[in-house]
Amino acid sequence: MGTKSIAVLTSGGDAPGMNAAIRAVARAGISSGMRVIGVRRGYNGLISGDVFEMNLRSVSDIIHRGGTTLFTARSPEFNTPAGVQKAADTCRSLGIDGVVVIGGDGSFRGARDLTGAGIPCVGLPGTIDNDIQCSEYTIGFDTAMNTAMDMVDKLRDTAQSHDRCSVVEVMGRRCGDIALQTGIAVGATAILVPEVPFDLEKDVIKRMQFTQLTGKKHFIIVVAEGIGGVDDLARQIQEKTGIESRATVLGHVQRGGSPTLRDRVVASEMGFRAVELLQAGEGNRVVAMKEGRIVDYDITEALNMKKTISKKLYDIALKISI
Ligand code: ADP
Repeated sequence: MGTKSIAVLTSGGDAPGMNAAIRAVARAGISSGMRVIGVRRGYNGLISGDVFEMNLRSVSDIIHRGGTTLFTARSPEFNTPAGVQKAADTCRSLGIDGVVVIGGDGSFRGARDLTGAGIPCVGLPGTIDNDIQCSEYTIGFDTAMNTAMDMVDKLRDTAQSHDRCSVVEVMGRRCGDIALQTGIAVGATAILVPEVPFDLEKDVIKRMQFTQLTGKKHFIIVVAEGIGGVDDLARQIQEKTGIESRATVLGHVQRGGSPTLRDRVVASEMGFRAVELLQAGEGNRVVAMKEGRIVDYDITEALNMKKTISKKLYDIALKISI
């Protein structure tokens, strides 16, 4: 038996492109004859019944907007068996028989629990960090990298004018993908990511000194949030090289902004797939990207997968950022 009424929510950290995913779910669901319910503030809205029925126009004019028009939240209550039960009861009382959860792997754990409580869920990877193990791409990643790149380009102008070193922290607590790709795109002399242990002397100071000998006068060092400590890093770099160094933490600006074409398209494809799955009566699935194609996995399997930073890209960065 196919699903007749589905709900859509965004949960955990927001990411640009979530609106494009919401839109795809609403439009695909409605055009295949389903009722689509929008849920506000993640699992909180599912517990309290803060929901509304969507129509084709409910998602007009949002594809280009950052953030999430459904709002998002972290829900401590949902993270308890009683909270999951309450959300499942709300779903049953509202006639919701499937939920699309757009969020990170915390949200997927919630989706697994809710499926266990009898409400089939499908997760869509929405997080700027690209830190979801089962997917080589997450909705919001491209926009965040482009924002970080623009910001670092601006820092480069001032670093260049003053012959300085700019030490920039970009987002990514356990995943260095934003740092790696942004670092390559801005020509950073060193890129520090949580997946690769580093030695300040060898991986930063020596690289700076080598390029200085070839005539380089300003430097960009890109550091992932998971490494942190950019103030201290800038101080040490200045002490050891004599080059004036400044630290900048880009922070939440990387979460905002109009999603790039890639994020809009991937969000649209993934949202469409989520509806297909629920329509086929499948739950406990996560939509992901593998070798550039949209695929889906069992949530439990997906949560146990491992992902590493691209060694190839990392080596390219080391070879050409000199
Ligand atoms: P993200 O989805 O971005 O990783 P969080 O880790 O904050 O963000 O998770 C979002 C929400 O998902 C939490 O507030 C909670 O309601 C739910 N959640 C997270 N972890 C679990 C878990 N282990 N079991 C059930 N629900 C969870």
